[in-house]
Amino acid sequence: PLKQLIVVTPTYNRGFQAYFLNRLGHVLKLVKPPLVWIVVEEKAESFETADILRKTGVMYRHVVCTRNSSGSPKDRGVHQRNAALEHIERHKLDGIVFFADDDNVYTLDLFESLRTVRRFGTWPVAMLAQSKNKAILEGPVCNGSQVIGWHTNEKSRRLRRFHVDMSGFAFNSTILWDSKRWGRPYSSPIRQLDTVKEGFQETTFIEQVVEDESQMEGIPPGCSRIMNWHLHLDTGNLIYPKGWLLEKNLEIT
Ligand code: UDP
Repeated sequence: PLKQLIVVTPTYNRGFQAYFLNRLGHVLKLVKPPLVWIVVEEKAESFETADILRKTGVMYRHVVCTRNSSGSPKDRGVHQRNAALEHIERHKLDGIVFFADDDNVYTLDLFESLRTVRRFGTWPVAMLAQSKNKAILEGPVCNGSQVIGWHTNEKSRRLRRFHVDMSGFAFNSTILWDSKRWGRPYSSPIRQLDTVKEGFQETTFIEQVVEDESQMEGIPPGCSRIMNWHLHLDTGNLIYPKGWLLEKNLEIT
């Protein structure tokens, strides 16, 4: 049987939310089951998100994060991902966990590749910003499946242990509760920390899951393909033509 994929998406109310959720939902719909999409909202389940999720035809769980975010832009879904990790651990959902932010662009190949992950898989992600015409790569340099170095932007090279994007890695969910099986010192619960410097969320999380590169699998072997793109779109102040209303940032009528 195919390995289950557990796709975790934090989401919040803003201009392009419906577009982002629909786009990701349609990609996930094309991925062979079993796949469960854990969509986590802040504070309360919105009717609009529930409606979009129902219509995608993907198996999903709509989770609410009760822990208040500090409102700081640094939080960026941290508590929501933790709520999903708690959910996975509590229900012992067995599969490959992948943090898919709602605004990024994903190929189908990526999801198929996730099924080859045994313990912890990682791959390069290209970052695109609308104001720059330069793509920045972040993620592993590999010799076959062995991770031998990292693509990074030089500013932070010396500081971060692992140079991986939030959507540049996936791991076996059993790592969350079965430290014996994975030869890892017991340190449950594994969480994203809300106290780390911006840009350090990924590495501090990964440092709890693996000891070093020897416990990682470069995906696909050679790591010479980009399978997803991290977008930075400034959609904060969208204005629609006269007569068109943006209701609750989700439905345009
Ligand atoms: N996010 C969220 N609440 C926030 C900020 C971000 O749920 O207050 C989600 C957002 O929907 C996305 C993920 O967290 O799925 C990453 O956010 P964003 O793309 O803004 O961060 P970036 O990684 O681009 O800095």
